Amino acid sequence: MMSSSRIGGINVLRKKDTQGSDSAGQVEAERGLEAAQTDTGVPVPADELEFDDHLPGKTDNAPFRRRDFFDLSPEDVTVHKTSDPVLARRKPVDLKPALGVLCFLLIVGAIIAGIVLIWPSSKARVPNLVGKSLSNAMETARENGFIPTVTGWGYSEKISDGVVISQRPESKKVAKKGSGIALEVSKGPRPETGAAPGVPATIATAPSNQENASVGPLSSKIVTIDPGHQALPASQEWSDPGMSKRIAPDNGGRGVATGNAECLVTLDIALKLKNLLEKDGINVVMTRETSTIDLPEVVRADIANNASSDLYVRIHCGNSEDPSKTGVDTLYPAKNKWTEPFYEKSKEAALFIQEELVNSCGIEDLGAMNGYDMPGLNWSRVPVVEPQAGFLTNTKDDNLLAGDQFRWKVAWGLRNGILKYFNSP
Ligand SMILES: [Zn+2]
Repeated sequence: MMSSSRIGGINVLRKKDTQGSDSAGQVEAERGLEAAQTDTGVPVPADELEFDDHLPGKTDNAPFRRRDFFDLSPEDVTVHKTSDPVLARRKPVDLKPALGVLCFLLIVGAIIAGIVLIWPSSKARVPNLVGKSLSNAMETARENGFIPTVTGWGYSEKISDGVVISQRPESKKVAKKGSGIALEVSKGPRPETGAAPGVPATIATAPSNQENASVGPLSSKIVTIDPGHQALPASQEWSDPGMSKRIAPDNGGRGVATGNAECLVTLDIALKLKNLLEKDGINVVMTRETSTIDLPEVVRADIANNASSDLYVRIHCGNSEDPSKTGVDTLYPAKNKWTEPFYEKSKEAALFIQEELVNSCGIEDLGAMNGYDMPGLNWSRVPVVEPQAGFLTNTKDDNLLAGDQFRWKVAWGLRNGILKYFNSP
């Protein structure tokens, strides 16, 4: 039987006598006690074992035995054995396979990071440029880190002027950034004999009073002539191969009195100069012989570069906000890291040409001077000059330029300057 007394707010149950008890709770409690004794193997004094926290609402004061580890006395803790045999026999976890997988994942991750971080910075996929307009193709190539170069031209009945018809390397191939993409560009349908639309019907023939052509060292010389501007709208361009700044499109001037387009005047002078130079035995490369073509300055420079020209002559007319400005001048590149290799040669050629232009044309000498931020000069890799033969914004100059005879004078002055440059030591 159990009796209960209250000590310090805790009901303490004391085991007086287990015999004769028929209460189910009491039997359970006794079983618990026996189990505890079995587990520990140490008999526990009943006085110390059996107690019960007061639980609100608990009416049955039947005793029970807690068998927690924390119930054990300090001496019992040392000999306590867990009743769970599974825990005791659990095998130690083998970490080797997990470490192997982790190492493998780290190596794969490092390779992927290398591909993602390093590979794209040095190589890129070649963009598709075929079918694009030349200026668009060159822009796209540069945006993707490549250097576009026009290496060939082809006539096509189906494709209009200035469209890329093939490229090397082909698109989607992986190539080193900074490497070149060679472009072949359409010249449109093969021109019929006669003047192209929009081009003056002048057939360039040299005046009969010209000196005999000198044959000799000049036959190894190559001059690329670029008639400035075009009839088609020009596009924005980069100032130099370092793409320092964007240069607004320059569609050329128009005669203030005649309305003549600069692109037609320059083309006529260029064809006359070609005629004269070829009679001197000089090899001439023309960037254009029609005005209905889209040729960015960069492409024109590339034509001169690819021809390994001894001199690149860009023919222009002057344009000024001041209508009284008249005369001839000759531009050569400003000195920068791109023009530095051919700066002195360009300057030398410009001085000869300016001198002979003034002699031949008989109008005001505005001198030879540097041209700044000019794509046509900065993209060249050969000596380059840009003579400006009279101002279309000046009535007198415009009327002169409208005359065939004056344009021959300009061509003659250019020819004499070029020969002096080639013959100078
Ligand atoms: Zn111009």
